[in-house]
Amino acid sequence: MAERIETDVVVVGAGLAGLTAACRLTGEGRDVVVMEARDRVGGRTLNHTFADGTVVEVGGQWIGPTQRRMERLVGELGLETFPTYNTGEHLLQFGSNRARYRGTIPPINPLVIADMAQAQARFDRMATRVPVEAPWTAPHAEAWDTQTFETWIRRNAVTPKARELFRLYSAAVFAAEPGDFSLLHALFYTHSGGGVDMLAGTHGGAQQDRIVGGSQLVAMRLAEQLGDRVHRSTPVRRIEQRGDRVFVLGEAELVVARRAIVAIPPTLAARIVYDPPLPGFRDQLLQRLPAGSVIKCNVVYDTPFWREDGLTGQATRDRGPVKITFDNSPPSGTPGILLAFLEGEEARKLSRVPGDQRRAAVLSSLVDLFGARARTAVDYVELDWSAEEWTRGCYGAHFPTGAWTQYGRALREPVGRIHWAGAELATVWAGYMDGAVQSGERAAAEVLDSDREAAATRGAGAGTATGS
Ligand SMILES: Cc1cc2nc3c(=O)[nH]c(=O)nc-3n(C[C@H](O)[C@H](O)[C@H](O)COP(=O)(O)OP(=O)(O)OC[C@H]3O[C@@H](n4cnc5c(N)ncnc54)[C@H](O)[C@@H]3O)c2cc1C
Repeated sequence: MAERIETDVVVVGAGLAGLTAACRLTGEGRDVVVMEARDRVGGRTLNHTFADGTVVEVGGQWIGPTQRRMERLVGELGLETFPTYNTGEHLLQFGSNRARYRGTIPPINPLVIADMAQAQARFDRMATRVPVEAPWTAPHAEAWDTQTFETWIRRNAVTPKARELFRLYSAAVFAAEPGDFSLLHALFYTHSGGGVDMLAGTHGGAQQDRIVGGSQLVAMRLAEQLGDRVHRSTPVRRIEQRGDRVFVLGEAELVVARRAIVAIPPTLAARIVYDPPLPGFRDQLLQRLPAGSVIKCNVVYDTPFWREDGLTGQATRDRGPVKITFDNSPPSGTPGILLAFLEGEEARKLSRVPGDQRRAAVLSSLVDLFGARARTAVDYVELDWSAEEWTRGCYGAHFPTGAWTQYGRALREPVGRIHWAGAELATVWAGYMDGAVQSGERAAAEVLDSDREAAATRGAGAGTATGS
């Protein structure tokens, strides 16, 4: 029989959202239990340590300007950042043409540059018109939510190469194909992060900085503060609401609380059994929020040989399987590590082939970009996030056509005593670590507000209520 534990608030999920919420609540004197399915904390952030002690992330890693919550947290937790390697020239490969360039404007046909510039300016302008708290209230919400991002790209970028650059934006930022999600979602997400250049950029953008020792340290340090309140290897299967209590059932324990915060990806929130069942509106929202597809590969070399060639290690190309790379070496620069992303369709295709074939395909892309030395890898680590039982796809969920306008209102609405958190529920930097933290803070504030309201009701009701 499951052990019964009583607490004030139970948090489901020890990713950045759940841990932030739990720390906020304990800071306000609440008793909290965090139930985490995995035997580790950090969720979509995960460090990997190679035999020589070098740490890389196989999940979320970068932070950038305007990500104030992560910046503050990193400082408070005594962690340090270092800049993503960005010295030298980037590579852009279209077909068999490989060009080197500095800055943000690649050396391609000026017509393509002009086409891309006009389309991006229009897209960024439209994005600023989407209210991040309520995208369904945007001026053309319905028109923007009934077409896919791909439809918009075809109508608004004239040249094939400019279209391809938008598709690369989709892969790099959403880990999904532009036909998978609505234009309204593309605009919302872009606005929530501050524009295309901010989301896609390295220096001055979302890929600007890394955390010394790996980003999972943030979650690990938060969990240290919570101590034995974090119950690992405790997947939640069922949540019941009865009277003024919520009963959250893990495999070996039943946690009874006044409130619950469910801080897990939408796809997994839909797999918990709720009693009473979730309202149809909420369940239908969850049915509509699939996760993106990404396999993140770190390829290790004795030295970062591309630096000797004057290259940053940042490459973009229209051919798969690897279309985006970064230099992911540690601050010391040794060993050299190339980060290669398989995203969207490429991740879907390669998730179905044996690991050694996938690794060979990744190396072959790197040889195309960086030459024969890219074949001399000494180590390799990859993670297919769609295969992860407790994530099921990354970087996060995307909204297909109709989801925002028809169901968006349900996204953050509590259901009785259940509150919702997770990077997908953020208004600023949605889908990012910073957004996860924002969502945890908001969910904790909701719980504290409901406590205050209950206390006020008790006061007005002359002591007749039994608790909140
Ligand atoms: C490859 C990759 C690269 C990324 N790159 C970046 C980046 O560079 N910068 C950035 O800001 N963001 C990046 N992200 C996104 C970022 O990592 C996430 O947005 C963020 O970590 C999500 O935090 P979360 O707490 O909302 O969710 P999660 O991290 O998913 O946490 C949810 C937790 O709930 C647990 N759980 C799930 N189901 C249950 C259940 N039924 N019972 C109990 N526990 C459960 C999970 O095990 C997990 O620990 C990346 C993500 C990936 C995968």
